[in-house]
Amino acid sequence: MADFWEESLTEQEGYLLQPFMTNLDRSVFGLVNLPEVVKGALFSRYSRSDKSLRRILLDEFIKAPEASFAGIVGHFTNNNADQLVAIQQAEAFYDRVLVGYGDDSVAELGGAHIACEGISNIAAKAIEDSRLGLSPLEKSTRYVPFNRKINGRYRYYREPSIMASSHSSRYEATLEHLFDTYTALIDPLLSWVISRTPKDPTTSERAYNNATKAKTLDLLRGLLPMATLTNVGLFGNGRAFEYLLVKLAATPHEEVRALGISMQQELDQIIPSFVKRAKTERGVKAAQYFQTNCERTELLAQKLLGQIQPVSTSTVQLVEYDPQAEVKVVAAILYPHTDLTFAQIKEYVTGLSTTERVEIINTYVGERESRFHRPGRAFEETYYTFDLLADIGAYRDLHRHRVLTQERQHYSVRHGYVVPIELEEANLQEQMRKALDYAAETTELIGKDLPDAAQYVVPFAYRMRWRIKLNLREAYHLVELRSSQQGHPSYRIIAQEMYRQISAVHPALVANMHFVDLNDYALERLAAEQRIETKLKQRNQNQPPTS
Ligand SMILES: Cc1cc2nc3c(=O)[nH]c(=O)nc-3n(C[C@H](O)[C@H](O)[C@H](O)COP(=O)(O)OP(=O)(O)OC[C@H]3O[C@@H](n4cnc5c(N)ncnc54)[C@H](O)[C@@H]3O)c2cc1C
Repeated sequence: MADFWEESLTEQEGYLLQPFMTNLDRSVFGLVNLPEVVKGALFSRYSRSDKSLRRILLDEFIKAPEASFAGIVGHFTNNNADQLVAIQQAEAFYDRVLVGYGDDSVAELGGAHIACEGISNIAAKAIEDSRLGLSPLEKSTRYVPFNRKINGRYRYYREPSIMASSHSSRYEATLEHLFDTYTALIDPLLSWVISRTPKDPTTSERAYNNATKAKTLDLLRGLLPMATLTNVGLFGNGRAFEYLLVKLAATPHEEVRALGISMQQELDQIIPSFVKRAKTERGVKAAQYFQTNCERTELLAQKLLGQIQPVSTSTVQLVEYDPQAEVKVVAAILYPHTDLTFAQIKEYVTGLSTTERVEIINTYVGERESRFHRPGRAFEETYYTFDLLADIGAYRDLHRHRVLTQERQHYSVRHGYVVPIELEEANLQEQMRKALDYAAETTELIGKDLPDAAQYVVPFAYRMRWRIKLNLREAYHLVELRSSQQGHPSYRIIAQEMYRQISAVHPALVANMHFVDLNDYALERLAAEQRIETKLKQRNQNQPPTS
């Protein structure tokens, strides 16, 4: 395979390397059993060395005493505490390798898994706002009821500045009321969901129970306040973590700043050299820079716009699109297949008829058999800006699309709330409204003294405004994924409406969006649960008998 490739290792060298490589004799191989800092430093040498990676590992790490290789790798010690100490002892060595031979991107060569438990939704959203290099997963409000108590207390964040103020008892009373209402409504609503969508004989018990439970929790999630504690698991590279730590330090919320400090402590044990600058003068100054600019801009915005009343709008508003989109996208489709300039191709495409352009688009997109057959980069040539006004629950879901540019306004009660129509049909809406109205009064009351902290009270049912800018390629992904049957109705409606509004201005560009689902479903999760059931059955059939 690799004509000009060779690896000559002695038997002894092979013995030393063997625990850390997926093979010793081929030009493509994986690294195993090595701590992140070693892998990162090892790769960083690639750009300044003619040696193979195996040779670098041998000569510059395994045989270099200052690399503390034996201690760090733990293969020899098998003791986690020893490994952490060894990483710290060898920090100077790794810093020298990383700074001396690499650039900023070297910190992308090592990663860490970090679990953040018992954090509020304010903090969870602050983490998930990072887009590049971080992959989060969060406890679901659909599959997990959020009313379990610990030591007799609901799990919500007792915000310190509120708890130290005269608002503390009102804060707790409001949040208790929200969680009590959530708890009290689960059983009656589940009974109503079951009575409205009885199990059909072909549906399995497990699939039906899961789907009805998910539907019930979906309908009630609007009662959960932003203070609700959740768990977020994160995998990310060092560079992404370093930037995240700087951003967390710049937020107005004490909890989020403290979370950043805790994360730094843990990351310092796993990838210290990669996240170090978050706490140096450079990191601290960057955080101050972000914070100061944000505060000043907020004051300016208040001064300029504070007296203007917001007009009412629909949930989804396409505020900007490119009238030249079709020409640009078609030109981008042809571009890699010619040696002409982009300007020449655009001029040519401008002279084509709509039918001719559609033929080019259809050839490029081809036969899409599923939503995973995605159009290519030419579809990134045009953008759409949407202004959205929807419940916080929907924001939490759509916020997770990292390829978009998204910016939100504060969590507030100013735009009213959305109570699902099903609660009205089940005649349970009054209790929900009462808890939501009480939460609004409390938010306004606390907000007069502590505007940032008051956001913890706001329940997910309240509407908020956010702006998203996305290209056509991501629009295909988001609309098809988020309109799919198993999605939550509040974001399905947004995805469907985005599709309709883009269709109205660029019909030829969305003509291949075949997997947008414009139907309504009574039990969104049912089909997905039934598919899981079929898979489980197939797996059981394929397994040999256990006795
Ligand atoms: C029905 C449903 C239920 C869900 N339930 C949960 C839940 O319980 N908990 C939860 O945390 N999330 C949940 N999600 C959110 C989900 O995990 C995704 O984060 C979210 O849908 C964003 O879409 P995306 O990951 O496809 O990526 P986007 O951010 O929209 O990116 C578009 C595409 O770019 C690529 N891409 C983007 N970032 C990366 C990356 N870092 N590495 C590799 N490829 C990347 C992928 O191909 C991706 O599909 C749910 C989503 C749906 C639709």
